[in-house]
Amino acid sequence: MNILITGANRGLGYEMVVEALERGHHVIAGARQASQKLAGLQEQYGEQLETVQLDVTDEAGIAALAATLKEQDRTLGAIINNAAILAARNTSIEELDMNDVLQSFDINLFGPMRVVKHFLPLLTEPGAAIMNISSEAGSITNAYPGDYPYGITKTALNMFTQQLLSAVKERGVQVVSVHPGWMKTDMGGEQAPTDPRQSSKGILDIIEGRIVPQGKFNFVDYTGKEMPI
Ligand code: NDP
Repeated sequence: MNILITGANRGLGYEMVVEALERGHHVIAGARQASQKLAGLQEQYGEQLETVQLDVTDEAGIAALAATLKEQDRTLGAIINNAAILAARNTSIEELDMNDVLQSFDINLFGPMRVVKHFLPLLTEPGAAIMNISSEAGSITNAYPGDYPYGITKTALNMFTQQLLSAVKERGVQVVSVHPGWMKTDMGGEQAPTDPRQSSKGILDIIEGRIVPQGKFNFVDYTGKEMPI
């Protein structure tokens, strides 16, 4: 399967790249500017790994990349919308800088929308999937104050998942919002209990159909367990 992963530089994105490569998939790893860590994988995996410049806020760049792949008659089996920021952490509404809200929407919501808009025509491999990496912070049921832009963008991302699902269901494409767990990454911090590699295994298992997402809405954690909307 050919898998496109955004935000592949570090954290969960990087771990999903490694996990997918180990499982024999061809990976197109998108990063604003490839990290040394990501570049370091190239020697080991050669043509199985393609690193591409991909800023999810740059629609022209995304369109150009999709057009290049299309010209080469390339196809995709999965798109993983992983790139995101957690801006204005623990900030009260009174202190919120609206620029943080705008930037969060631009990356966390409009990013996946731009990527799907341009790459969906390539998503033609059997068992194709779109994985939107969401968060428990987007659960309205468990809403908490403080991470306003982050939580709201993830709730909206879950809505995008449901909208998309009804648009592509007939084509046999699965669309899932996944909470990857509280992970030890730059975003999650050192005290987080979950190894992002563990989360990446669950996400790949969902893509490969080894784990079937449960529940009414396609919002699950990395083990496939239903998350509250
Ligand atoms: P990190 O902060 O560790 O990494 C974020 C990644 O996103 C980096 O590779 C970064 O690239 C990339 N990125 C940010 N902005 C852009 C952009 N404009 N274009 C392309 N790439 C961009 O995050 P995690 O690995 O922890 O998080 C991965 C996903 O999991 C996110 O969707 C997050 O919301 C979600 N999540 C994380 C949790 C956690 O505990 N960590 C909990 C729940 C959900 P660069 O290196 O260039 O900055």
